[in-house]
Amino acid sequence: MSEDSWDVIVVGGGGAGLAAAVTAAEHGATVLLLESETELGGSTQLSAGLFTAAATSVQRALGIEDDAKRFFQHYMDLNHWMLKPGLVRTFCEQSGPTLEWLIGLGVEIPARISSNAHMPGLSQAGVEDVWRGHVPKDQGYGLIQVLDKARRAHGIETVLATRAQSLIREHGRIVGVVADDVEVRANAVVIASGGFAQDASLVDRYFPAAHAAGESLFVVAAPGSRGDHLRFAQEIESSVTGQGWGLLLPTAYFQRHHHWTSGFPPKSRIYVNGLGRRFMDEDASYAVSTGIMAAQPGEVWAVFDEPARLGLPSGYTDWVPERVAAEADAGRTLRAATLTELADRMGVPAEALTHTVTRWNEQLPHGSDEEFLRHRTLANKGSSADPDPIAQAPYYAVRMLPAELVCTHAGMEIDSAATVLDRNGNPVPGLFAAGEAGAGVLGQRYVGGGNAVANALTMGRIAGRNAARLARRGTSAGRAPAGV
Ligand SMILES: Cc1cc2nc3c(=O)[nH]c(=O)nc-3n(C[C@H](O)[C@H](O)[C@H](O)COP(=O)(O)OP(=O)(O)OC[C@H]3O[C@@H](n4cnc5c(N)ncnc54)[C@H](O)[C@@H]3O)c2cc1C
Repeated sequence: MSEDSWDVIVVGGGGAGLAAAVTAAEHGATVLLLESETELGGSTQLSAGLFTAAATSVQRALGIEDDAKRFFQHYMDLNHWMLKPGLVRTFCEQSGPTLEWLIGLGVEIPARISSNAHMPGLSQAGVEDVWRGHVPKDQGYGLIQVLDKARRAHGIETVLATRAQSLIREHGRIVGVVADDVEVRANAVVIASGGFAQDASLVDRYFPAAHAAGESLFVVAAPGSRGDHLRFAQEIESSVTGQGWGLLLPTAYFQRHHHWTSGFPPKSRIYVNGLGRRFMDEDASYAVSTGIMAAQPGEVWAVFDEPARLGLPSGYTDWVPERVAAEADAGRTLRAATLTELADRMGVPAEALTHTVTRWNEQLPHGSDEEFLRHRTLANKGSSADPDPIAQAPYYAVRMLPAELVCTHAGMEIDSAATVLDRNGNPVPGLFAAGEAGAGVLGQRYVGGGNAVANALTMGRIAGRNAARLARRGTSAGRAPAGV
C-alpha cells in the first residue's frame, strides 16, 4: 500500500465494492480497495448479472413504459411493507440511473427480449407486471470486467489477498481499517464484503431457515462470503437488520451445483405436495417459488415419467438420465411401475396423485393450465412446444426443496445514503456499507432475478459517492444526502 492515508477505503472488491470505488474516484477521492481473495469479483462475478431496474433506456427502446414509483409499489408489496420505504424508494429511483452509468462504462445490454439469464437483453425475471430483468452480455463476469476496467482507468490502488480484520474508531468516528495487521487510515470506509453464506455458524444465527434443507443444503456464493460485515457490526456495536432473510433456490435433493452446471428438471413434470396434489406453476419465478414450496404440507415431489427422464439433455452434472437412474437404483429417487405404487412410496393418497396426473395430461400437453397458468411462464421463457403427458412407466418422484443458498440479506443497517446506522438509528460517522453487507434493500421476498446485483451496484454507487463527499469535505458527522 503506497500511502498510509486515503480519502476512502473500500473493503471488498465484488460488485458493490467496485461500484463504490469507481464512483468515489469519479468524485475526486483517493481510494484504496482491499480484497480478501486473489481476484476481484466475488459473488457478482459468479452471477448471471441480471439487474432489475426501472425506466431504463433498454425498456424505452422496447416500448416498455415504466417508472420508479411503479417499481417501488411492486417492491414494497412483494415484501409486505416490512422494509423501510425511504431506503427502498431511493433504491428504486437510482437503479435505472445506475444501469445507465454501467452502460456508459461499457456494459452491453441489447434492446431485445431475453427468454433466459444467458441471453443478453430484457427478461421477466420475477413476478413484475413490467419486464425489468436486464441481462448483460457476459453476465456477472461482464459486469466485473467493465467495472475493473474503470477501476484501472482511475488508477485505484487495489490490494488483493488482504482481508480487512477490524475497523479503527476514534472519538466515535471510523477512521480506517486494520488489514494484515497493518493500520490503514481514511476519512471514510465503505464495507462491501458481501454476505455470510459460506459461514455455517452465521447462517445458523442469521438465516436458520436454510438449515431446514439438512444435508441437501449447498452454497453457491463466492468463497469470500464469510460474513465479516457482521463481525464489524458486532465490534462497533452498530445495528444489524434483515435477520432471517436470504435467497434459497428450489432444487432436487441431489443437486450440488447451480443449475448452469447441475442442469434442469424435465419440462414435462409436475410438483406435488404431501396431499398428492399439484400446487404451483412449476416454472414460477424464484421470487415466489421458494415460499410456495416451503408452505406446503408434507414433502414436495417432482413427478415425471420415463420419456421425460430419457429426454434430459447431456452435459450436466445432476439432471441427466444416468444420474436420475443411479439415484433411483440407490432408492433415493422413487421409481415405480404404476402411479398407485409411486403414490404409496411417496406416502400420498393414490387417488389424489392419479387425479393430479390425469388433470395435467388433459391440460398442459394441450397448451393450457387453467389453475396455475404455467403456459404463460413457458411462453415468457420462449418455450413454444407444449409439454408431454406423464403417461409412460416407470414413473419417478424426486424430492424438491429450497436448498441452494445463493445470497444472504442480514447485514449492517444502512439509510438512503448507504450510511451505517448505530443501534439507536444514528449514522456511524465515516462508515458506509453496500451490497449484501449493507442491509435494508434485500427483503423477505427476493424481487425476481436481478434484485441482488442491482442492490450491490446501486447502493455501492451511492456509498462511493457519499463517502467521497464526506471525505473531501472533512469530518462532519452529519447525515449524508440520499441517493447519488
Ligand atoms: C451463482 C450465483 C448467481 C447469482 N445470480 C444473480 C443474478 O443474476 N442477479 C442478481 O441480482 N443476483 C444474483 N446473485 C446474487 C448476487 O450476485 C450477489 O448478491 C451480489 O452480487 C453481491 O454483491 P456484493 O458486492 O455485496 O458481494 P460480492 O460480489 O460477493 O463481493 C464481496 C467481496 O468482498 C470480499 N471480501 C469479503 N470479506 C472481505 C474482507 N474482510 N476484506 C476484504 N475483502 C473481503 C469477497 O471476497 C468478495 O470479493 C447470484 C449469486 C450467485 C452466487
